[in-house]
Amino acid sequence: MPTSTTHLDLSRRVSELKPSITVALNNKAKAMKASGIDVLGFAAGEPDFDTPQPIKDAAIKALQAGETKYTPTLGDMKTRQCIADKLTNENNIPGLTGEHVAIGVGGKHVLYNAIQCLFDFPALGEDPWEMILPTPAWVSYRPICELSGGVVREIVAGPDTDFRITPAQLQDAINPRSRLLILNSPSNPCGTMYSESDLRDLAKVIHEGIERAPQLVVLTDEIYEKIVYGPDAHFSIGSIPEIAERVITLNGMSKAYAMTGWRIGYAAMPGDFGKSLIKGMGNLQGQMTTNITSFNYPAIREALTNPAVATEVETMRQAFAQRADLIMSRLSEIPGVTCPTPTGAFYVFPDVSALFGKTSAKGTKITSATSLCEAMLEEAHIAFVPGEDFGGIAGNHLRISFACSEDQINAGMDRFKAFVEGLS
Ligand code: PMP
Ligand code: GLU
Repeated sequence: MPTSTTHLDLSRRVSELKPSITVALNNKAKAMKASGIDVLGFAAGEPDFDTPQPIKDAAIKALQAGETKYTPTLGDMKTRQCIADKLTNENNIPGLTGEHVAIGVGGKHVLYNAIQCLFDFPALGEDPWEMILPTPAWVSYRPICELSGGVVREIVAGPDTDFRITPAQLQDAINPRSRLLILNSPSNPCGTMYSESDLRDLAKVIHEGIERAPQLVVLTDEIYEKIVYGPDAHFSIGSIPEIAERVITLNGMSKAYAMTGWRIGYAAMPGDFGKSLIKGMGNLQGQMTTNITSFNYPAIREALTNPAVATEVETMRQAFAQRADLIMSRLSEIPGVTCPTPTGAFYVFPDVSALFGKTSAKGTKITSATSLCEAMLEEAHIAFVPGEDFGGIAGNHLRISFACSEDQINAGMDRFKAFVEGLS
């Protein structure tokens, strides 16, 4: 009987899976900090604010009242209806009822479920289904699609268009194997967003494209919808009647309500297919996690309906707007670093490629965004996320999250500037 475990393998699927760089770097910066190193973290994609008190109180009250049992898999109907009402009234999405809403363990989990319900591994001789992904894009879309048997067709956008794809690019990308188009506005990692008129132009291309791509569905990730501070208001593409029944709107509590640790996300899609998709997501979730934490449902309703919470959300938005101004003015002092103006979310995504080929004061050769971020973490104790895994031209960029205090932004930018000025 062999006893050695040397030849035990993980599944190919998992051993080939790249860890999330955003999660990994955030963990690394936190570990360095815990070991006593004075690291200034700009890697975390989470608000530094605490969850508003009324939301916490609602969960505590539910817990005390004994709401501690399994619930229906996709959420209790009162909460699903509350989300449908929010999407109807705030986002103008037509045709939604509670039956069109799925609640899961974070936007990431809900995204995973939706993608599992849309993609298949190709049968022998069949071409795979494609996910059209405008890049730079959040690091998790690609691996989640690939785990489901899909392949990614990137549409590359750059700083010249504030990282927005054009209707012509989208038109070129749509083909009979197109299954899903991802949109994410405001964008992680770019910190920019689409205007209503941009989205209407893209919707026209999608509508016309359905003839060529009969299975095409759109997933619009609107998790940063409350954090906007540029000239454009947030607009939901799912509100456009011609394509509404093709659009899955993904959102969650993490960013708007500073609830990253609670793990609550949701998706909604109107129409008959929407109902089938949500049901499929429920079947899948029923074999995975079942429901989210039971006493979180009243907290979701509190977040979505209490005007005092809305006031706090607005206060946080204003703080992010102020920090965006501050970080842009500090970045403009750093030679070789250029950056589109952020208008949403809490990220800036500067181009740092002018620094490639230089050597740090401590002798590290900078050859890429990754080597730059590694050197800055080790030598200057500032944690940024290198661009490579966001796709497209993102290897020329790094992501800086400014979900932290103005003091930290100033101290971090002082270190960034000193590091760059020390390059030769
Ligand atoms: N979409 C985007 C664009 C994100 O940045 C995040 C942050 N992790 C998510 C979805 C998922 O967030 P969560 O799982 O915390 O809801
Ligand atoms: N979305 C956040 C980020 O991009 C949190 C980490 C993650 O889930 O990727 O940093």
